[in-house]
Amino acid sequence: MPTHHQPSPNAAARRLGAALLSAVAILASTASRAQGPGVMATDGYFEVARIDSMTFAIHEPKYWQQSIMYVLKGEQRSILFDTGSGTRDVAFMADKVTRKPMTVIASHMHYDHIGSHGSFKSVAMIDLPETRAATRDGWYSPPVMKSLWPFSSGFAVTEWWKPGDVIDIGDRRIEVVHIPGHSTDSIALVDRARGYAFVGDHLHGGTLLANLPGSDLAAYLQSTRKLLSDFPEIKTVFGAHYQGRMTRDSLVALETSLAAILEQRVSGQPLWWLGWTAARYPGDGFTIVAAP
Ligand SMILES: [Zn+2]
Repeated sequence: MPTHHQPSPNAAARRLGAALLSAVAILASTASRAQGPGVMATDGYFEVARIDSMTFAIHEPKYWQQSIMYVLKGEQRSILFDTGSGTRDVAFMADKVTRKPMTVIASHMHYDHIGSHGSFKSVAMIDLPETRAATRDGWYSPPVMKSLWPFSSGFAVTEWWKPGDVIDIGDRRIEVVHIPGHSTDSIALVDRARGYAFVGDHLHGGTLLANLPGSDLAAYLQSTRKLLSDFPEIKTVFGAHYQGRMTRDSLVALETSLAAILEQRVSGQPLWWLGWTAARYPGDGFTIVAAP
């Protein structure tokens, strides 16, 4: 019996959303790649890769945005950072990684990061006025401008973590950092001892979107600077899509690129982006899409 799994009160709505997401995934997916390097387990959809003996990535390579979730194990409990698109329930694979009690928290509330939140008994939420306002009787219902998907039915919240909180999961301390920019509710989890920062959509080796509802380029830069200045320990940065593993140098490159865009020292290549006009700014190992 999976230890973390519970039937969702909104299973039907979730299944509908998942079915639609599957259809989108099938239409949009690039050719699925062969089993990636370091993959230690797969169910044919998810792939689990070991980062170290207490840290694992769960990839969703067949999903069109190639989402990546992370399991941070402690001696007492574990954290699952993001639950992916919900195309397939990640709870089953998370159970393969650890039997320790698992608490889920999302890097941010976009639909492709909260897809299987409803399957977990223990769900933490970043404590911000906006997330409190969208939670009634312990149930978070994401506003569509936060999830960017009208079928996100929400999930039960069992814990609130404040920006700056240090969560002790047993011989491992994880710091919660609010990093608005990509979205207003974006967070990073930092493990100073290991030099890891898990940053969601803030930085990965793909297209970084700074043009969504709630995106803020100045906040994006400020959050990047906060990560660099407040956490000199950070060596490795783990993002939530495509090539997830980045470095401190990538974070510095991101700071440089964002500052150049904000100060209008570079001009982007115009592109039409789902009805918005935007501009593409190639960076060092990533691309930023921002308002023109
Ligand atoms: Zn996002």
